[in-house]
Amino acid sequence: MIYLDYSATTPVDEDVLNTFNKASLEFLGNANSLHNLGNKCQTLIDNASMQIANILKIKPQEIIYTSGATEANNLAIKGISYQYQNRGKHIITSKFEHSSVIESLKSLEKNGFEITYLDTNANGIIAIENLAKVLRKDTILVTINAVNSEIGLKQPVEEIGKYLNENAHCFFHVDLTQAIGKIPINLENIDLASFSSHKIYGLKGIGALIKKEKIQLMPLINGGKSTTIYRSGTPMHPLIASLAKSLRLSMENLEERMQKVTNLNNYLQKNLKLYPHVFINSNEYSIPHILNISLKNIKAETFMHALEKYNVYVSTKTACSDNTSFSENVYDLTKDKELAKGSIRISISHLTTQEELEEFLKIFDKCYKELS
Ligand code: PMP
Repeated sequence: MIYLDYSATTPVDEDVLNTFNKASLEFLGNANSLHNLGNKCQTLIDNASMQIANILKIKPQEIIYTSGATEANNLAIKGISYQYQNRGKHIITSKFEHSSVIESLKSLEKNGFEITYLDTNANGIIAIENLAKVLRKDTILVTINAVNSEIGLKQPVEEIGKYLNENAHCFFHVDLTQAIGKIPINLENIDLASFSSHKIYGLKGIGALIKKEKIQLMPLINGGKSTTIYRSGTPMHPLIASLAKSLRLSMENLEERMQKVTNLNNYLQKNLKLYPHVFINSNEYSIPHILNISLKNIKAETFMHALEKYNVYVSTKTACSDNTSFSENVYDLTKDKELAKGSIRISISHLTTQEELEEFLKIFDKCYKELS
């Protein structure tokens, strides 16, 4: 198998799975229980939170554990909006956000909130001047992803955070899901940040919303205090321990891994550019882990399934978007419907090998010749 869909999900690291198994087998209590078994689980969670806090340079009490980034995005966006709606009902975002952000905003729109989609430059990147133009006194939230999931566009979230901190009274939420474990993260000027374990070689079913201490949220799940009052339910201590482990491992050798993925991406691009009907949608602002291409005259889904027959896995759009093969992100960037229909995302990792890419290119060539 040649797996080139690392942005949809990553294979679980064995050490992370071992942490989960150990915590499940050796800590049988409920962290909310007041007896000794509960206390042991709570201590495990406290240690995991301390590790995560040290890595992200935040406080342990600023971590809200969720089922993943979809829930974290919903909680950040709806939780802030409903909590602070008396200050204003205007929210700013971009067109390059994940469906869990866009759909949360659409649900708010139905409840009287107003959403502004920021204009980006020709490369799909947000300019501070454009943000400044649409900021208003009643803006309560700006939500922007650090890295877009389809094209890999990296937004200047540190710069945006600094600008908002100095010039506005709104909150700033960043979806870190495609960025964490790939690029350095600085949460200094960010109020809320979401991420998910299964994108960093961890388990599915756990993620977190980082919420700075001074901020309140209206909870989406009620039921009393758990690890925080913002997300009730029995704390999932084995998953929390595994999240800390996956986060720690994903931050190791960041620069070395980046260099490896950059080389692999360059190799892929150089070879794919040889095809007259292949168009590269990712640009110099995309992280090298995501290479979005379009095949003019071949439907993305048809090509994806042709590759699949050879045990090669890529994706059309993202795993979370609806299953039509028209990519709105590619259309927003290129303004070309043909490119949007033929868009394929190849996503690679430091685990990808040169040999895998060589084999992929041979299979790509076969499928391309068969279908064009
Ligand atoms: N945000 C982004 C940018 C993503 O890529 C994803 C996953 N495709 C999510 C949020 C949702 O993450 P999860 O699967 O943990 O709900």
